[in-house]
Amino acid sequence: MSASTPDPAGSTPHTAPAPGVAPTRDALATRVVHAGLDPDPTYGSVIPAIHQTSTFRQPRVGEFVGDFDYARSANPTRAALERALGDLEGGHGSAFSSGMAATHALLTAICSAGDHVVIPGDLYGGTFRLVDKVLTKWGLQYTMVDQTDLDALAAAVRDDTRLIWVETPTNPLLNVVDVAGVVARSRNAFVAVDNTFATPINQRPLELGADAVVHSTTKYLAGHSDTVGGAVITASEEHHDQVRFVQNAIGAVPGPFDTFLTHRGLRTLALRMRAHAENAAVVSAFLRDVPGVSDVRWPGFSGMVSFRHADARGIAERTRVFTLAESLGGVESLIEVPQAMTHQSVEGSDAAVPADLVRLSVGIEDGADLVEDLRRAIG
Ligand SMILES: *Cc1c(COP(=O)(O)O)cnc(C)c1O
Repeated sequence: MSASTPDPAGSTPHTAPAPGVAPTRDALATRVVHAGLDPDPTYGSVIPAIHQTSTFRQPRVGEFVGDFDYARSANPTRAALERALGDLEGGHGSAFSSGMAATHALLTAICSAGDHVVIPGDLYGGTFRLVDKVLTKWGLQYTMVDQTDLDALAAAVRDDTRLIWVETPTNPLLNVVDVAGVVARSRNAFVAVDNTFATPINQRPLELGADAVVHSTTKYLAGHSDTVGGAVITASEEHHDQVRFVQNAIGAVPGPFDTFLTHRGLRTLALRMRAHAENAAVVSAFLRDVPGVSDVRWPGFSGMVSFRHADARGIAERTRVFTLAESLGGVESLIEVPQAMTHQSVEGSDAAVPADLVRLSVGIEDGADLVEDLRRAIG
């Protein structure tokens, strides 16, 4: 599956395999509901207890269940979420206290001082800031390139390129990058994909040949704007061990209640992504016909829409159903002006965004109410 042909999740019915036929994997809409969740063995509770603990009793020195000796290293509530994330992306999952912590862990697990990385020409501002302001202090070198141009990408990959960072669709310009095309031009570099905007419902980069996926689970995966978190999912066990080592060594781990909330949100991911996409289709179709609105972008899946208008700030301050706020991916609709809000960290760089750009995170409210809200706010 390519990035531009999203897979409508849940369209495959869940059927029991015929006798004698090897079972196929359940459809994603089924897996999101069950992934990582086994009923509690002690009481049979369908949802396992939240393990709000920092440590675990050892009956004898060095004896403990699984890898549960201390909760920075491992916690059963976090482990359940990590299994679920691994299942949905098709790899080995690790959960972090934020998307940036996940990004930092993967970059520092894979790269060393002096390595070269390739990053996209438009990307999440915090990722650019981490690379440009923090990791360059430790000798990381980077090249920015428009990854929708695969020839330009190929030209940017050097003999010493250790990692290619892909974000698709990009934040905030919603450009779609051909992940398999990047993998084919990666030479020996590690390919990491920020899959926050697409989610595994629409795009599974590991199946396209990428080495790792990163998420800000704060957004669609948790889906309710009530917790901050991140995840790394690697294709290989070897890379998973490297990420796990950094997770424990640096310690940017999520608490049990946050991982519980993320896991709870994940269970409705297929349903929510369908509703986000339906509303985003309605909203973007409406915007295309509004005088003064230009460059309406919606990649055809997910709930992120952007457009340009001379009165970007005024519109963002006049909506009533869309809340003026940073972040995205929750059930409620949000509106923001990236240049003045989420993307201040790229001002003056090659990744700077236009001042008249409005970004919408289209929620799951009634689509007609969302259109009416925008109609009134644009005036
Ligand atoms: C929000 C976001 C991040 C950072 O995640 P946090 O959870 O805020 O740390 C990274 N990438 C993308 C695409 C994002 O939208």
